[in-house]
This record gives sequence, C-alpha cells and structure tokens, in this order.
Amino acid sequence: MTKVSELLAAKRCLSVELWPPRSEEAARRLRASLARLERLRPDFASITYGAGGSTRDRTHELVVAIQHEWGMTAMAHVACAGHRREELVEILERYRAAGVENVLALRGDPPLWSGERPPAGALRHASELVELAREVGDFCVAVAVHPEVHPESSDPEADRRLQAEKLRRADLGITQMFFRVEEYLRLVEDLSSRGVTRPVVPGVMPVVNARSLLKMAALSGTSVPASLAQRVEAVEDRPEEVRRVGVEVATELCAKLLAEGVPGLHFFTMNQLGVTEEVCDNLGLLPRGR
Ligand SMILES: Cc1cc2nc3c(=O)[nH]c(=O)nc-3n(C[C@H](O)[C@H](O)[C@H](O)COP(=O)(O)OP(=O)(O)OC[C@H]3O[C@@H](n4cnc5c(N)ncnc54)[C@H](O)[C@@H]3O)c2cc1C
Repeated sequence: MTKVSELLAAKRCLSVELWPPRSEEAARRLRASLARLERLRPDFASITYGAGGSTRDRTHELVVAIQHEWGMTAMAHVACAGHRREELVEILERYRAAGVENVLALRGDPPLWSGERPPAGALRHASELVELAREVGDFCVAVAVHPEVHPESSDPEADRRLQAEKLRRADLGITQMFFRVEEYLRLVEDLSSRGVTRPVVPGVMPVVNARSLLKMAALSGTSVPASLAQRVEAVEDRPEEVRRVGVEVATELCAKLLAEGVPGLHFFTMNQLGVTEEVCDNLGLLPRGR
C-alpha cells in the first residue's frame, strides 16, 4: 500500500478521478472503462463523495475495489458537510480498517445541510476535516485548492490565506479545474510566497459535453475562455466534435503544465477514461511503466 505524498516525492504522477456508479448499468460501463487502466496505469485513482453522504457506501465500495481488486493506490474523497463529527470518525475509521491510506478532505458543495442548522460540533471547513483525519489515522491527507479563488468568497486575499493555511496542514493539494496555465502558476507562486510549498497537483477536465462544461464551470468558479466556449458551442450538437475539441484543448493545457514541471496531472475523467487516455497518448505518456 502506498501514500500519494511518497509517490509524488519520488516522481511525477498521473492520476484519475472516478465517480461511484449510480446504477447497475453505470457500474457495468465503469467496469468496462476500468479495463483501460491497464494501459493508462495511473499512479492513483481518487473516488468522489456526495456531500451529505449520498454516495457514502458506494464511494467506500469503489475505493476498496480499486485498491484491493485492481491493485491500485486509491484516494477516498470525504466531504464533511452534512455529517456529524461522529459519522466522519466512523467513515475514516472504516477506511483505516480497510487499509486505505489516502483521503481528500473536502467541505462539499451546497446544499450543505439541506436547510437544517448544522448540529453543535459539526465541522464547517475542510481544514477541520484535515485535523480530524490526522487524529483518526496515519493518512496522507490531500485538500482541494482553487486557482481562481473559491466562488463563495468575496475576499480573494482572505480566501488565499485560508487555502494556504489549509494546505500547510495537509500533505498535498489538488486543484479545481482551470483552462489557463497562468491561473495555476499564480496560485503556486502565491502559496509559495506564504511559505507553503506542498505539492499542488493540477486538476484537468477534458471537455466532453458543452452543457456540463458551463454548469461545472459556474459551480466551481472556473472562467471559461471565450474562445473555448465558442469552439465548443459551435459543435455542441455533434458529440464526437465536442470530444475532439476537448481532447485538443486538454492536451495543449497539459503540455504547458508539464513544461512548467508540475508534480503530476490529475484528470477529472467523469468516468470516461478513453478521453484521458487519448490526451495522455498525445502527450507521449503511454504506455506507462510502473
Ligand atoms: C480536486 C477536487 C475534488 C472534489 N471532490 C469533491 C467531492 O468528491 N465531493 C464534493 O461534494 N465536492 C467535491 N469538490 C468540490 C468542493 O467540495 C467544493 O469546491 C466546495 O465548495 C469547497 O470545498 P473545500 O474543501 O475547498 O472547502 P473549504 O476549504 O472549507 O472552503 C470553502 C469556503 O470556506 C472558506 N473558508 C475556509 N476556511 C475558512 C475559515 N476557517 N473561516 C471562514 N471561511 C473559511 C473558503 O474561503 C471557501 O470560500 C472537489 C473539489 C476539488 C478541487
């Protein structure tokens, strides 16, 4: 078993984000897609979590399957929103018992408490979950970082300070998606000027669908360059063309990031591993040896 922080210290890593399937049909498609991992050979796979616990068991099952059936290093996303502290302890203890060594400590996206008031003692920010994970086990703890500032924050300086404090307590950061390499470079420079030099792995989302691009960008506070929006909108009724543009744009972005010496590339695959494989192929990252 392996800690992602140790992998990053040894080499540049390639990683993928997967979603736990919502139906039998989605599970079947995911299993077929996972066969591609033989070629892609990511250094680790992270598995998303529905804030409030909506995917609690499915996330756990996929994390354990990735680690034990597929023999790959897994990172479990855990979101504190909507959970009591005791529930989070239980979730983390279950991972510890299953031999999972990596967690991505998140707050989660709204609705955070579905209209209820958070109970006394509930964790409000991801940084508190980092502390809790440290108390529960010897985990490698990753956190989300936001190159374009978190969308709820009205004070960019305060947001950057809070992100730096959170990352200082963690082992690594994985960024929100972005489309301009400058956004990533500015974030890393800013963190380093605050004395935080933990590895920050850029999160890359190859566009596969015009509507979901705009929806996810709005939710995450990511600005979509007008040229990209126009290219995607011009072909939005032709999925194969959208995918071609998505692969091209992601390849260009990754090539620039690699030239800047990033510690790794983390792909938001939306369970479409073929797209990530194409991007990696274009970059000469396939086939990969262990
Ligand atoms: C790589 C990656 C993976 C993700 N995976 C998931 C997933 O699986 N499931 C999911 O639900 N969401 C996921 N998200 C989305 C994430 O939950 C949202 O971006 C969420 O809105 C913020 O999460 P955070 O962990 O960055 O929160 P936080 O670090 O808690 O920040 C949230 C807001 O609170 C502010 N803040 C932080 N600390 C303090 C403080 N001490 N005092 C006052 N304000 C504070 C910040 O400035 C920010 O505006 C992911 C995001 C990324 C980048």
